Amino acid sequence: MNTKELLQYDKDHIWHPYTSTTNPLPVYPVDKAEGCTIHLKTGEKLVDGMSSWWAAVHGYNHPVLNKAMEDQLKQMSHIMFGGLTHEPAVELAQRLVDITPYGLDKVFFCDSGSVAVEVSLKMALQYWWSKGNKEKVKFATIRNGYHGDTWHAMSVCDPETGMHHIFNGRLPIHYFADQPQCRYNEPCSDDHIAGLKQLFEENHKEMAAFILEPIVQGAGGMWFYSAEYLKEVKQLCEQYGVLLIADEIATGFGRTGKLFACNHASITPDIMCLGKAITGGYMSFAATLATDEVASTISNGSPGVFMHGPTFMGNPLACAVANVSIKLLLDGKWQQKVIHIEKQLIKGLEPCKQLNIVSDVRCMGAIGVVELKKPVDMAIIQKAFVDKGVWVRPFGKLVYLMPPFIISEQELGKLCSALLEVISETMEGKE
Ligand SMILES: *Cc1c(COP(=O)(O)O)cnc(C)c1O
Repeated sequence: MNTKELLQYDKDHIWHPYTSTTNPLPVYPVDKAEGCTIHLKTGEKLVDGMSSWWAAVHGYNHPVLNKAMEDQLKQMSHIMFGGLTHEPAVELAQRLVDITPYGLDKVFFCDSGSVAVEVSLKMALQYWWSKGNKEKVKFATIRNGYHGDTWHAMSVCDPETGMHHIFNGRLPIHYFADQPQCRYNEPCSDDHIAGLKQLFEENHKEMAAFILEPIVQGAGGMWFYSAEYLKEVKQLCEQYGVLLIADEIATGFGRTGKLFACNHASITPDIMCLGKAITGGYMSFAATLATDEVASTISNGSPGVFMHGPTFMGNPLACAVANVSIKLLLDGKWQQKVIHIEKQLIKGLEPCKQLNIVSDVRCMGAIGVVELKKPVDMAIIQKAFVDKGVWVRPFGKLVYLMPPFIISEQELGKLCSALLEVISETMEGKE
């Protein structure tokens, strides 16, 4: 199939994320990816500014990760997890228990982030069911969150920017606190948490769990909020007997400058969801961790088991590559690299503040965000980025960079200057 035929068949038959089949935006055909470079079939080489949606922290085609998968392939690529176990899964569980906040001792492996969120919500419901509490059947969260696209994950996404309006009346109604207004590294005043407190006071009897993305809200708005706010949520959960679910699917494994975003507030949630970077972006895989209290309450209740078990649970290939990816991260100087990226992002995106099309510039860890006053035109801006030799994929008013941690100074410099040039050129007059 030549490139033209490939693109035509794609256009005629394939759904891409959040797109139309009748009027799809153009897609770019990839031949291969290596390090921080995406090679298009049409010859262009693009510096990757997205890490394939937070996942590819070590870049692409990494020899060590490749070898881990090749070695595991020769043992077995998959084996059912019902009644069987294996070294890659046990080793991974051990690693996750060791590196996540103290107290998260039980590991449930699953196939994707959204499933990890579904599992966490089910765990919370089954926890209260096992305790004989029939009232706690609802969830609370903060606005502008994102927790995935499956049914209940979607229902705790932001009610405005999420898909609530389409499924209006069919999604379970949950409780929403306002998006935290206290920014990261800023204190949190009584005003900032008044609404949150009220939500707990009024609804705690029905609340099984409070779910949030700690510190960094990702796909719902790329917003960074105060660690004091997160501490406050933890305190309110304890005070009112509500479980805390930390969705670290985007933030986990170093992206925010700490290994997990919960570490910024030194808290342990009752349940934690991991995904995206867990396999270094090699495989779809996720995990839901819980405290002993959550796990044993479910197990001591009726029916005495946790009712979930996906076909590809604990997939050995994914576990093997996750083990090596995490080892690579911890053995390398990941934190220095992320601090270095943060410094360069702050400096490189600084000039964007001068543009009157820009409303805010914020950086944290290996995340740099430029918020515009008006939404971008995707088709135009996407092509402009490709023409400049970089891969950046904005959404709405948000143009952001979250490169692989292995990115060189020169590559990151190219991303920052391309971002500045592209928004200046394509957004002119959109103030
Ligand atoms: C991406 C994401 C999810 C969903 O993960 P999938 O693997 O896409 O199902 C859930 N929560 C957060 C915070 C995410 O960033």
